[in-house]
Amino acid sequence: MTITPLMPVYPRCGFRPVRGEHCHLIGEDGRRYLDFASGIAVNALGHSHEGLIGAIQKQAATLMHVSNLYGSPQGEHLAQRLVDLTFADTVFFTNSGAEAVECAIKTARAYHSAGGNPHKYELITFTDAFHGRTLGTISASSQEKMHKGFYPLLPGFKYVDFGDLEAVKAAIGPNTAGFLIEPIQGEGGIKVAPEGFLQALRALADEHDLLVVLDEVQTGVARSGTFYAYEQFGITPDILASAKGLGGGFPFGACLATEKAARGMVAGTHGSTYGGNPLAVAASEAVLDAVANEEFLAHVNDMSAKLVSRLEQFIGNYPDLFEEVRGRGLLLGLKLKIEPRPFVAHLRDNHQLLTVSAGDQTVRVIPPLVIDESHIDEFLDKLSAGAASFTAQEAAE
Ligand code: PLP
Repeated sequence: MTITPLMPVYPRCGFRPVRGEHCHLIGEDGRRYLDFASGIAVNALGHSHEGLIGAIQKQAATLMHVSNLYGSPQGEHLAQRLVDLTFADTVFFTNSGAEAVECAIKTARAYHSAGGNPHKYELITFTDAFHGRTLGTISASSQEKMHKGFYPLLPGFKYVDFGDLEAVKAAIGPNTAGFLIEPIQGEGGIKVAPEGFLQALRALADEHDLLVVLDEVQTGVARSGTFYAYEQFGITPDILASAKGLGGGFPFGACLATEKAARGMVAGTHGSTYGGNPLAVAASEAVLDAVANEEFLAHVNDMSAKLVSRLEQFIGNYPDLFEEVRGRGLLLGLKLKIEPRPFVAHLRDNHQLLTVSAGDQTVRVIPPLVIDESHIDEFLDKLSAGAASFTAQEAAE
């Protein structure tokens, strides 16, 4: 037998972390890595955050799991908190981002079905989007590499170029339910929606009774410098999927919706055994205690401004390697002039710096939101040493 006990769906690297300390990860061999990957935008509070650990420990000792058949004072409190913080009137809790997007897709379809228009089931989605790995969410993405081997896909998605408003208008038809979009594409390469694009989608939605569904799984929970990224784009959505930072490392997600958009999500239409169990809710409450306030958002924006300005100065030293710095808040991308994977591997293996590659030749720079200036200094030192020692041969690998 050659298959590994862990199903070999990930091209796992040699680094094997066993402990986390604030913004660092420690490997099996005792080596210390600066973590500017945050479990792919998950560990908003870094590792070993006392508030998060304390909340999980306390809740684990009190009540870990009960069925969603029972009333949930814990869930009601967190849902109300998210409602108060956002556009939403109601929330469904999930265990992951893909499940939050699945709930968002079902909510959009149910909206039209409940309105007597079940034929309006098609969501317009965008090239290079990433919405997760379930059958529904891979179907929502145009990326063929995620489809291969898993046909037939779920019908009901039409792909349009990210940012192409004329193509969106042309794609709207009698079956259109709405738009599903990441305000800033994460896996796609930290691509911010072009100026005015989301506002134009909002206007089209209002004109044609369509829904704006935002996938804020990666952008949400203070990552982009506002609690949710939509706040920076001058719109409110009808439905929003959240996860990653929402649990700070505890598997958690949420689908938020307005009362109107959720009109089809009545008793019996959706469910989850674990979604919103007391343990997950306690973890999320601890995350919100830390991040859902002006002071914390100001900190994220301050760190972002410092990091971006240092990066912009730095990349000019290596014009053959770097093209630009982009993104919002602490969801940043370094666009390279080469494929990013060898450089990410070089930084990791030779300089103990963790980053994540993305589409469009981009290296994602997504540190814990709790970094301070010493981490930015350490990051630039490692990045600078990494760029200086990176060879053409490695680039070609
Ligand atoms: N949507 C976006 C924008 C994401 O970045 C991700 C994960 O990277 C997902 C959905 C899927 O989330 P999960 O892996 O928790 O299912």
